[in-house]
Amino acid sequence: MLIAMQRPPPSTALFEPALQPRRLSQILWATSIACAAGLLGTLLTGKLLTSLLLAATMVILALAIWLARRGHVVRAAHLMLVTLTVAISGLVFLSQGIRDEAVFAYPGILIFASMFGTRRLYLGLVAFVFLVLSGVVAANLLGWHVNPVQPLHWGRLANVLVILAVTAFFVWLMASDLRSALTQAQADNQRILESHARIDVLAHQDSLTGLPNRVLARDRLEQAIALARRNHSAAAVLFLDLDNFKTVNDSLGHSTGDQLLCAVAQRLVAAVRDSDTVSRQGGDEFLVILGGITDDEAATTAAVKILDQLSAPFVIAGVEVSTTGSLGIAVFPQDGADADSLLKHADLAMYRAKDAGRNAFRFFDAEMNNSVVEHLQLTTGIRQALRNHEFTLHYQPQFELASGRIVGAEALIRWRHDSLGFIPPAKFIPVAEHSGLIHELGAWVLHEACSQAKQWQTDGLGDLVVAVNVSPVQFRRDDIEREVATALVDTGLSPSCIELELTESLLLADSEHLNGVLKRLRSMGIQFSIDDFGTGYSNLGYLSRFDVERLKIDQSFVRRMLDNPSDEGIVRAIIEMAHCLKLQVVAEGIEDAPTLERLTALGCEFGQGFHWSPALPADEFLQYCRTYAESRP
Ligand code: C2E
Ligand code: MG
Ligand code: MG
Repeated sequence: MLIAMQRPPPSTALFEPALQPRRLSQILWATSIACAAGLLGTLLTGKLLTSLLLAATMVILALAIWLARRGHVVRAAHLMLVTLTVAISGLVFLSQGIRDEAVFAYPGILIFASMFGTRRLYLGLVAFVFLVLSGVVAANLLGWHVNPVQPLHWGRLANVLVILAVTAFFVWLMASDLRSALTQAQADNQRILESHARIDVLAHQDSLTGLPNRVLARDRLEQAIALARRNHSAAAVLFLDLDNFKTVNDSLGHSTGDQLLCAVAQRLVAAVRDSDTVSRQGGDEFLVILGGITDDEAATTAAVKILDQLSAPFVIAGVEVSTTGSLGIAVFPQDGADADSLLKHADLAMYRAKDAGRNAFRFFDAEMNNSVVEHLQLTTGIRQALRNHEFTLHYQPQFELASGRIVGAEALIRWRHDSLGFIPPAKFIPVAEHSGLIHELGAWVLHEACSQAKQWQTDGLGDLVVAVNVSPVQFRRDDIEREVATALVDTGLSPSCIELELTESLLLADSEHLNGVLKRLRSMGIQFSIDDFGTGYSNLGYLSRFDVERLKIDQSFVRRMLDNPSDEGIVRAIIEMAHCLKLQVVAEGIEDAPTLERLTALGCEFGQGFHWSPALPADEFLQYCRTYAESRP
């Protein structure tokens, strides 16, 4: 529609080379001079009517010159054509009929009209000339108007030469104009062809590595699928992502990064058959398409070869650079019936290879897809749940083992989904972390826990310390301090009533930034504990660097400690080590009295677990505390 609207209106001209005003003036002047010469001749020979005709023609040609100068080129050209045709016809009629030399002027006029006149003007002039010539001949034959034939003399030759000279001059001008227009058109055409070729390359080739780009790769993949479908064979897509490319780029610069990508491209091409396609998808992602294969075996072989090729270090600008890659593989037909699903599944499998520790390859399997769908559903669900206030906090009491006093509570988030039912935090917290929603969720938990702790103070439970689980992801942004401060200010809770449960993985990161954040929170009066202690890492150096109050022994050791001597050994070791470092110990997952007794004997200070109570809604927790206090002597 748009194209149709933009198309120029259909032309009525036969041919549309642009007639330059200068050219037209030259032709008008040439014709006027020819007329003047003719006028001179007719005046000398005393032909009054012819002289008048030529004089009138010259006046009109002068008018056309004036029009041409003012830029009315088309009007001037049309005026000239009509005037000349009428004048020549008049001369023919007044002089020797169709034997008159003036007839020679018709072809020139018609050529000019065909090039610069409208179709209607041209056809009109042709018809007019036909009529005039036929009329003159008929008038002669019927004796109505007989044109005398003059004997041959030099004057007639002069007339013919003048007409031919003017026609030749005009034809020469036109021909040279056409020639240069043609040369220009050829040059333009060549340029267009060259830019089309360039566009084609840009559209299908990666400018850095020269490999096919994602557009061409997709086309090749579709061809490979079509071929496999026809031949009842298979095709594989291998999605490669370099594992440490960002580090190379950041540490050695973008130019080295670019050279590394080119070198990787070369090794990939060398690792596969000529008939396979290696493409760069952008960044540090490459795609390898294996066509005409019969089974997964070929894809495995290619994947092993590719990882092997990448394992040797690259030497770039004299520097040795090492990189590895993670590969995801999807095979047609079992992993997808079209290019889109194969690409998506290979990408998914690549992430699994990364999760598996990088420098590995993984085949796609349907379970991966299910988990992605579930992941997406959960992300949407968390977002909605935050909006609809579907999250609640439950509180598990924490006890001082020696006295049996309730000293605090751990706030544990709960989510009852409308259709999916109760979703455990272990399932949705990682999704919230992955999607970034943990920031909003974490802020809500902090605020809610502080407000509840304050409420319990009002209810007479005293200064219980509420332990809040904080995800390491919450520390990646700068707002954790602000969120803690806001929650405390909004609720009026004292900072000493809040304990943040950190993970070992967070402390192992040991960054300057984290150090600063923890120090500032500490100076506000916030306490810290290390959650699930013992499950993570053997490097305990961080314990002496960070100022924490408590270690929470992971419940897996606690629950098994009476049945399994090595778990008891671990629990004892943790308690002893903590005491050496002047840290207190909280045992989580205490489910029975013998475990409690053992832990108390080992010197563990605090505990929580089903032995006393699971995590309870806030009002039930209040009730529990009251009943518990009443039951104690
Ligand atoms: P966690 O911080 O180690 O929490 C203790 C978990 O052990 C809780 O599971 C609790 O219900 C459970 N538990 C307590 N006593 C016993 C017991 O005697 N036996 C057994 N078998 N289990 C016991 P829950 O509530 O399912 O929480 C799981 C994890 O989810 C938590 O582990 C914590 O890492 C995370 N989480 C919970 N709430 C939050 C939150 O608000 N924010 C963040 N970032 N993580 C949270
Ligand atoms: Mg915890
Ligand atoms: Mg824990």
